Amino acid sequence: MKLCPDCGRAGVAGVARRIVLPGDRRSDEIALEILACGCGFKAVGVAEAARRARLRGGDAERVCYRLPAAAVDLIAFLIARCPDPAEEYCDCPAHATLNRRDLRNQWNLLHSFAPFPGFEIGAASAPLGTSFAYAPLAWTRNGDGYRAAIDGREWRLEPLPPGASRYELSVGDALGLELDAWPPFWVVEEGEEGGGEPGRSKEGQPPRHEGTKAPRK
Ligand SMILES: [Zn+2]
Ligand SMILES: [Zn+2]
Repeated sequence: MKLCPDCGRAGVAGVARRIVLPGDRRSDEIALEILACGCGFKAVGVAEAARRARLRGGDAERVCYRLPAAAVDLIAFLIARCPDPAEEYCDCPAHATLNRRDLRNQWNLLHSFAPFPGFEIGAASAPLGTSFAYAPLAWTRNGDGYRAAIDGREWRLEPLPPGASRYELSVGDALGLELDAWPPFWVVEEGEEGGGEPGRSKEGQPPRHEGTKAPRK
């Protein structure tokens, strides 16, 4: 990225993370990138080498999507969990989550976070290495699950049986996304009402589920 869209400075915004996904019905290769700048700008970049463009010797098209920071953080966290992000056929759980397809074999991960408009950025591939910082995301309990309000939309998180180590994330009415890990920057806030126990809100630890329990208010 030549210029940061937010602060306008050159040479400070770049690629913090990158993962390569297998091609879909439209593209030979999909590279999902986390773009970041020291000013706080965060976005998701998608470089797709279209089958037709590749035949003509064209470059990958790179589009930047300004998703909510919480969505960028989650995708960055998932990329960081992959042991081999340059390997499109890596079989790790993070690849499985990020490589979601629709029934027509079209990659549709970003649909989970709503059809936000993208904007084009320079086609040149920036080097990896930009630093990236997660922002804490506060969840409140919602029955057996959790909810958070993010940029005017509701995110809901439901534990998937058995146990509580997997979750389904739903954003508004969009498709759910299955997660096999609790990002360490997600925090569960206990409400003031209902006698929330102090010290139960622990950053960096998945919340415990202790079997049947009356839902908190
Ligand atoms: Zn900037
Ligand atoms: Zn992987």
